[in-house]
Amino acid sequence: MLKKIDHIGIAVRHLADAAAVYGGAFGLEAGEIETIPGQKVRVQKFQIGGIRIEFLEPISDDSPVSKFLAKRGEGVHHLCYAVSDLDQAVRELKSHEMAFTGEPVIGSDGKPIIFIHPGSANGVLIELVEERQAEQNS
Ligand code: ZN
Repeated sequence: MLKKIDHIGIAVRHLADAAAVYGGAFGLEAGEIETIPGQKVRVQKFQIGGIRIEFLEPISDDSPVSKFLAKRGEGVHHLCYAVSDLDQAVRELKSHEMAFTGEPVIGSDGKPIIFIHPGSANGVLIELVEERQAEQNS
């Protein structure tokens, strides 16, 4: 079901601080900053060997990332795995009694995503993103 790690999400208070470390000290090329209204975050991406590191900065106090920062401070927020068919993956996981934090929504790059509740996955918030076959080869 899981094809690969798509990205790792890291919660930060300010994207500029992440850019200083990843774009500065580590010397990686910073991607465009994208606002995702549905998740109430701004995102900046860095590519490392085919895996993205995505920094998440909340754009409002009721963003899930705001709540995370208030509770735990900056740090790793979630892991994202790619699947080829999100609906099918959700059906399968529900048959294994796994819980989700909500319904599928449109995430970064317009792709459907869903989050598995950390209580169902060893304390880690897991995002699933649908990655169609055609996009894999691009
Ligand atoms: Zn993510």
